[in-house]
Amino acid sequence: MYEGAVQNLIDELGRLPGVGPKSAQRIAFHLLAAETADVKRLTHALTEVKERVRFCDICGNVSEEEECRICRDARRDGAVICVVEESKDVVAIERTREYRGRYHVLGGAISPIEGVGPDDLRIKELMARLSDGQVTELILATDPNLEGEATATYLARLVKPMGLKVTRLASGLPVGGDLEYADEVTLGRAFEGRRSLED
Ligand SMILES: [Zn+2]
Repeated sequence: MYEGAVQNLIDELGRLPGVGPKSAQRIAFHLLAAETADVKRLTHALTEVKERVRFCDICGNVSEEEECRICRDARRDGAVICVVEESKDVVAIERTREYRGRYHVLGGAISPIEGVGPDDLRIKELMARLSDGQVTELILATDPNLEGEATATYLARLVKPMGLKVTRLASGLPVGGDLEYADEVTLGRAFEGRRSLED
């Protein structure tokens, strides 16, 4: 245990995902030794992200406007919506350059263990978007793990009465992982080879 401010910083850093106590300590001492200007830039970036960045009113992606860049882009195909768990998945899919439709960011996946149910995700918002009949295909691009599969199955059942084409990314993605860990080529192929979910 360190005194006051140093320990406080270590504790706060330790709450970040993927930062264990040892890393938290290393980062804290790195910051202590850093130039004041460098640390100020970091605090500015932290403050700014909370002040300026919000979630898109339509798709839930991170945005600095009411609607994100993709929702504002009239050239994107409004007949296809790709459902993902997080904004980082939008970035991963955009990198493949395979997809020209729209997105819907759920804000997570169904996980009974973590107490996340359908009502905790932006599913109501998705249903509202589908209600005007403009969308003809829904691509379920949730992560290839237990929670992602459960979420895809749930959504496929939910939208079934709407008669949309519902597809899931092709296999070949690293099972159990996050979409973002797949390389661009693999993810692009999984997109192209997406299969219809009809039973
Ligand atoms: Zn959007």
